[in-house]
Amino acid sequence: MTTHTPPANAEELKRAVARDGVEFLLVMFVNLRGKACAKLAPAHTLDRLLTEGLGFAGNAADGLGQTSADPDVVAIPDPTSYVRVPIQENLGIVQCDLYVRGEPWPYAPRGILRRQLERLAAQGLELKAGAEPEYFLVRRTDDGGIRVADELDDAASPCYDAHAATRALDHLTTISRSVDALGWGNYSNDHEDANGQFEHNFGYADALRTADRVVVFRHLVRLAAHRAGLIATFMPKPFADLTGSGLHLHLSVWEGHRPLFEAADDPRGLGLSRQAYGFVAGVLDHAPGLMALTCPTVNSYKRLGARAGTLSGSSWAPGYASYGGNNRTHMVRVPDTGRIEVRCVDSAANPYLALAGLAAAGADGMARDADPGHPLDADLEATGTAADTGSLRPLPPTLLHAAEALAADDVLREGLGKTPDGYYTDYYAAEKRAEFDGYHRQVSDWELRTYLQV
Ligand code: GLU
Ligand code: MG
Repeated sequence: MTTHTPPANAEELKRAVARDGVEFLLVMFVNLRGKACAKLAPAHTLDRLLTEGLGFAGNAADGLGQTSADPDVVAIPDPTSYVRVPIQENLGIVQCDLYVRGEPWPYAPRGILRRQLERLAAQGLELKAGAEPEYFLVRRTDDGGIRVADELDDAASPCYDAHAATRALDHLTTISRSVDALGWGNYSNDHEDANGQFEHNFGYADALRTADRVVVFRHLVRLAAHRAGLIATFMPKPFADLTGSGLHLHLSVWEGHRPLFEAADDPRGLGLSRQAYGFVAGVLDHAPGLMALTCPTVNSYKRLGARAGTLSGSSWAPGYASYGGNNRTHMVRVPDTGRIEVRCVDSAANPYLALAGLAAAGADGMARDADPGHPLDADLEATGTAADTGSLRPLPPTLLHAAEALAADDVLREGLGKTPDGYYTDYYAAEKRAEFDGYHRQVSDWELRTYLQV
């Protein structure tokens, strides 16, 4: 039985690992792309892990600012991140902080978020976050493509379909039980808007812990699907004609036990405080650069745009830097008093970098006491709305646009911090330009159909 209080220090971690009968640990961290990297270590080496860590070739892990000529990146477990894998009970996972030559390595996404949160903590503030992960269950086809795992799952409007969810009951209940065993408090599991698409909901926590949870969650879902002979994909838009997958993030800032985003006397009627509006304004002001962090792949930009053609008739993903009340067509939704939901974030986002960027943008808005103006009631998926007046700022149409915006954003540059070679956002933008370039050099079927016989 796993207790639900994470170990506070090395001694408690050792006791928890012994109590849980964990034999092996995945010594884990994520790279720039959010890829979970790990080595498997026997639990009896825990003392050494906690003092010396494990060495990795940073260039092989990819996206860690290293070449093959550089010294090891040393991963040292953070005891508070320990979990036992519920569907593989002799296996534990620890998230690590990264060091090179004994110093914190500024290319480590988890360290980048940690430092941004420490800046808030220096002002007595804490960012809390909840995450709503969406993904698809698919199978490979003989021609190298993919199809929805359950071939009966082909309804035009499958969202909340009780029968489709019940056909996926083995998978959904495995994940639900696992999330509960991890102590995160599962409260909902649903069939989402696209065929083959699912979402699971669990409690919010401080931003670092929630980022760790997203990493573990993805790992768990992929493992459970693999054991069932399926692929769970967190690719944002695997099917051109279906809604894509988001990672909506619900955010609130606290001062001790005081929720700073709540206000009973909000004249706009959303129950938000001045600080909350400042945070929203910061997120909207920095939206173009933030998008490179929240929507980090070439494929991400095919999910966005409220009028994109999907079988269900909605994308549920924003096209503009806008906010509204309980209205799912905006980049920022205010679903309830005291918190905001950032809806642009997609399933491929590196949760550490997305949250670090959002924290930096929001903190900037709060520091400037910025005002996002009045919330927009309009349905931005409908035609003939404010979006058509040109009064709203469209979100970047491609990864390349977003990468350029990130490189030009001073607040995000300072927020994500310096590296030995400059700023992390410059490194990140260069990696994303290269990713876009790799995509751009392909010649697609669309191009053949459109240009071959021109
Ligand atoms: N799947 C949609 C997205 O890509 C979100 C659907 C929802 O509102 O839950 O953001
Ligand atoms: Mg959803």
